[in-house]
Amino acid sequence: MEATTFQSLLNPHLAGLEEYTPIQPFEVLSQRLGIPASEIIKLDANENPYGPHPAVVEALAEYAYYHIYPDPQQTELRQALSAHLEREQRQSEEPQAGEGASTAPAVVPVEQILPSHGTDEILDYLCRLFLGPGDAIINTPPTFGMYSFDAKLVGAEVLEVWRGDDYHIDVEAIFDLVNSTQLKRESISPKLLFLTSPNNPSGNWLPDEDLLRLLELPLIVVLDEAYVEFSVEKSRTPWVLEHDNLVIIRTFSKSAGIAGLRLGYGIFPSWMMPILWKFKQPYNVNVAATVAGLASLRYADEMHSTVEKIRSERDRLFSELQKVPYLSPYSSSANFVLCRVESFRNAGSGDAAALKLALESRGILVRYYQKPGLNNCIRISIGRPEQTDRLLAELHELT
Ligand code: PMP
Repeated sequence: MEATTFQSLLNPHLAGLEEYTPIQPFEVLSQRLGIPASEIIKLDANENPYGPHPAVVEALAEYAYYHIYPDPQQTELRQALSAHLEREQRQSEEPQAGEGASTAPAVVPVEQILPSHGTDEILDYLCRLFLGPGDAIINTPPTFGMYSFDAKLVGAEVLEVWRGDDYHIDVEAIFDLVNSTQLKRESISPKLLFLTSPNNPSGNWLPDEDLLRLLELPLIVVLDEAYVEFSVEKSRTPWVLEHDNLVIIRTFSKSAGIAGLRLGYGIFPSWMMPILWKFKQPYNVNVAATVAGLASLRYADEMHSTVEKIRSERDRLFSELQKVPYLSPYSSSANFVLCRVESFRNAGSGDAAALKLALESRGILVRYYQKPGLNNCIRISIGRPEQTDRLLAELHELT
């Protein structure tokens, strides 16, 4: 029989799937550009330029049980995460001079935390748990691509409520969509609403009042806080205790600098946990990620000072980018800055692409976009100060 006979057995909704466009591997680029990997300035994937704390690397080197399967319940890691979240909350509520003592923080119980193989895994779980053909997610582009990717994988619709000019969420438009008669007529059921704060790639924060309103909808609200540590605003993690339709996802990829090890976690309403335990792969979090995660939490203060360095570098980069005549940066609460390329070598609609290529040939990698909401934009991840200096020097030279 022909291969096409077997191909016809594929799930029909997968036929229209768009391919995920991965970032070119570091080593491949280094070969292509003829620049040693150590000299490439990689500011294209929102990674942490400092990597993990040396104590994390040491813990990985010293661990003696890589031949043993991981704990499927991730008991130690979940306990450490619960303690970490409590501490984080206490620190964010520390009384200012003159204020009274703060109240005890609401503790996120171990039972409501689920570690994962990167937060991407949780997005996949949520889509498979709640969606099938005829269901829908509400997405708020421009935003992180995995929400629509995972929804399409399970044959669900992606309903889009575009962000406004300043990339803020249009709360009323989301309500209008959920209540629209057209959806009912077409028998489409929106079930998940994906929100990102700070948003990738725009870097803006979702205000408390908007989130509170959106939580009134009859939907599961997934708040992606991958970059929350870089914001001066507080994480909404404790809100999960008060909202049965709120899921928060967080990651070790950015603040802890272990993107390559793949470790994230979700904080879920308690009713969702039993099904997640039945659903998840037993060994979804590998031993190396667990060891590195635990060590990162033991060195949380050091991790925090790295985050502080990245924050202040972001603020410096933002104000310096304002001085580059052909760029308009957006202020950011994350570890990257989005910039509109106003004009670059008169390439017109190809300005951002031309700038990306010019920087690439000089060994500096940034992300560029040419799509609705992000036309002629580049996103620059925050690097080390000397990398910012090189970038700025090249940007001025390219003027
Ligand atoms: N959410 C957002 C908004 C992101 O930008 C990213 C990574 N770029 C992720 C989630 C994925 O994080 P992880 O590495 O934990 O899978």
